[in-house]
Amino acid sequence: MRIAAFGIHPDDVELGCGGTVILAARQGNEVTVVDLSEGRASSNGTPEERVAEAAAAAAVMGVKERINIGLPDTRIRGEDASQTAAVVACLRDIRPHVVITSSSDDPHPDHASGGRLIERALYLSGIHGYEPDREVWPVPHVLIYAGRREIEPHIVVDVTTTHATKIKAIRAHASQFVPGEGRKPTPLNAAGFIEVIEARSRIAGRMINVRFGEGFRTLKPVALSDLNLFARPTARGKPIQRPK
Ligand SMILES: [Zn+2]
Repeated sequence: MRIAAFGIHPDDVELGCGGTVILAARQGNEVTVVDLSEGRASSNGTPEERVAEAAAAAAVMGVKERINIGLPDTRIRGEDASQTAAVVACLRDIRPHVVITSSSDDPHPDHASGGRLIERALYLSGIHGYEPDREVWPVPHVLIYAGRREIEPHIVVDVTTTHATKIKAIRAHASQFVPGEGRKPTPLNAAGFIEVIEARSRIAGRMINVRFGEGFRTLKPVALSDLNLFARPTARGKPIQRPK
């Protein structure tokens, strides 16, 4: 299966759905991370540092590819025609079966507008009359992860086996999360930030009785044609017994 995980800045995927991305890659899926912007407006980190850190984090996560669309930091617009076309072109190139993307319900203006931009592109990617020189790609499944605001998840993924690697991938963005000489103090490199990320995963995990989880909302209803999905082993121990 092909999976595309979208972030607005080069560390958003790691923070919001890193455990799930690592799990999907380990399970043999082709995972592409797509960052909308290079994060140049960030308080810390040169553009070169951020590129190198994003590549290092991608290697930690074990994804097939990481690309950056290069939209202008702080000037992402949910309704911008050329930015929409860039995201649609990306979707039609990757042709993902699942897109994981960030919530537009977020106080960071780029997260809010970027989330809207991706939702708009997801819709237009499946429309034959939109930019008809590229083959359409209607994305079947879309999962939305939380930004700064909590979400009430529809789905929680058990990321107990990948949580430690997720934290390693986050720390690979050292200019953002590791305080150091010459770095400006920010909420991201303040003491306790990584612990909050971990606490979130513990709370989501608690919802399904595992150590660590990541919660998602779905963009549209999830289609089921086989309730035997629920017969697979669950976190609660035993699978539901199928009648003989
Ligand atoms: Zn961000």
